[in-house]
Amino acid sequence: MKAGAVTPGQRYSARLIEMALPSVELGEVMVRVREVGIDGTDIEISGGRYGESPSGQDFLILGHEALGEIEDSGNAKFKKGELVVPIVRRPDSCVNCLNGQYDMCLEGNYKECGIKGLHGFAREHISENPKFLVMVPASLRSIAVLTEPMSIVTKGIDQAIEFHHRYSNPVQVALVLGAGSLGLLATAFLRVQNFNTYTLDIVPKSSLKGQLVEALGATYLNGASLSIPELPEQIGNLDIIVEATGNSTVAFQAMTALGRNGILCLMGVSTGNKPLEICADCLDMEMVLGNKVVFGTVSSNRSHFERAVELLASIERNWPQWLSKLITRRLRIDEFTDALHPTPDNIKTVIQLL
Ligand SMILES: [Zn+2]
Repeated sequence: MKAGAVTPGQRYSARLIEMALPSVELGEVMVRVREVGIDGTDIEISGGRYGESPSGQDFLILGHEALGEIEDSGNAKFKKGELVVPIVRRPDSCVNCLNGQYDMCLEGNYKECGIKGLHGFAREHISENPKFLVMVPASLRSIAVLTEPMSIVTKGIDQAIEFHHRYSNPVQVALVLGAGSLGLLATAFLRVQNFNTYTLDIVPKSSLKGQLVEALGATYLNGASLSIPELPEQIGNLDIIVEATGNSTVAFQAMTALGRNGILCLMGVSTGNKPLEICADCLDMEMVLGNKVVFGTVSSNRSHFERAVELLASIERNWPQWLSKLITRRLRIDEFTDALHPTPDNIKTVIQLL
């Protein structure tokens, strides 16, 4: 079968390879992969910045956002043709992992398909333990490849809302920084909650990103001509901010802009080592006197995947066809290396496996 692979730590190593079908171990089911989404993590791994091959091998199959179809199942729970999404992170033996909260792993010996120590899903078949497969209704087939990124958004924003429930005042303003796929899914989540939502990026309002934000009843802000710390003067007390740019300067500007009792959810990852000069006293004082919360969020577990499926259905009901517009590029597995070079206006590339 065909697979999209890299040599971790080596730039420009992305390539299409031929490999044998996986063997199905006892208790596993064979899944035919139908679609694989590409994100910034895949692009960074292919740029040699991180990634880890499975033990004893010198290559890593990429892809951690996938939609598959049960092909062969000795398991009564699954029928041939049913749609499933595989979970990415696999537990170690820490107390959180043993309780199914492997997204909150304490020891760091977890593995992640397509990222750390396990092959990913950019291949025609995978064999999988059903406890790492989440069922998806056929009605969501065209957009279910977005389940994994939606699970990341779900975990982060559900926590932010939970923190906000510490007190009585309703959410007046929610702000999303970045209108990539995570930022747009976050905007949709906040709009499902009916929050007054603003989403900022640096492309014009007339762009597809701007149009997608406004189609949800949120307001698009062009960050190219706006200062984030001055946003509260224009749009009010920022109760919830979701940082989805992965730019650490933006993250610190967001801390300054955060309102009284505000919650800042850091979802983007910055992988460089850029220094930044800040007024530490000012920030510390504002955080304390404003009862502010800043938290980071990474990965997701089975409960977040299941909730993500419900949320995708809810978004699809509220704004039919909106989610499918996030998939701006569909390529074949033969075009695997092209998939890792998106154009600047691209939102989500999906590899389709026939
Ligand atoms: Zn663990």
